[in-house]
Amino acid sequence: MNKALFLDRDGTINEYGEYIYLPKDFVFIKGAVEFIRKFNVMGYKVIVISNQAGIARGYYTEKDLLALQRWVDGRMESQKAKIDAWYYCPHHPIYGKGKYLQDCDCRKPKTGMLDRAVKDFDIDIKGSIMVGDKEWDAECGERAGVKSFLLRNNDYSLLNNEVDKYLSLQNSASKHSLLIVNKNNAALTENAVKDFYAKYGGLNEVVIVDNNSSDASLERLRSFDHMARLLAVKRDLSEADAIKYGRSFVGGIDLEMKVYISE
Ligand SMILES: [Mg+2]
Repeated sequence: MNKALFLDRDGTINEYGEYIYLPKDFVFIKGAVEFIRKFNVMGYKVIVISNQAGIARGYYTEKDLLALQRWVDGRMESQKAKIDAWYYCPHHPIYGKGKYLQDCDCRKPKTGMLDRAVKDFDIDIKGSIMVGDKEWDAECGERAGVKSFLLRNNDYSLLNNEVDKYLSLQNSASKHSLLIVNKNNAALTENAVKDFYAKYGGLNEVVIVDNNSSDASLERLRSFDHMARLLAVKRDLSEADAIKYGRSFVGGIDLEMKVYISE
């Protein structure tokens, strides 16, 4: 099976603009080509998943789009990067003309394009990621079961940090998880997180085991680590049960569990 980087196009590879179909209007976002190359080198399939309602609206044709994709492929090749496949949705449920007027299954956040790519390239969904600039990109990814990231403010260095951290967690054999059995004391939880980062630093997936679902705890945790996740469980959990819940929560990744009890 193959891992994939699913990528939105407009606002993710090229600077956002409405209905871009000409090379002269296609401006690469700084860091985008390097990002793609990084995934090429890691052996991922790089697959573009793009809504192209400009076709539905009659602003340009599929032929125009394919010509632009070939042009982008050429630019990539000259920079030793490669997009393995392009998927696009040419439909629009309201403004589509002729055959393009369709409430299709492929327009994001629907998952039709992604699902097809998964079949075509024998993609391992759990090992793949999706990157886009809009909520519907992330929604599409999450619906299909693919870990998703948003590119914010065209800032690839920020995105690289988030993604690298996630990949390290996925790949590393010596990662740690923090389980905090919180005795309902937010200040103690915060101190426990601080202690943990001072001790272990680096790459950790943090799972807070809280005795009640608490957005405040999660928010506090996120100020240290945006990847932190909250698992709410019942009060007075035993350490063994905390580990059991924690393991099932991180799903499929056999993390080394560090138990850190704040009380
Ligand atoms: Mg976009």
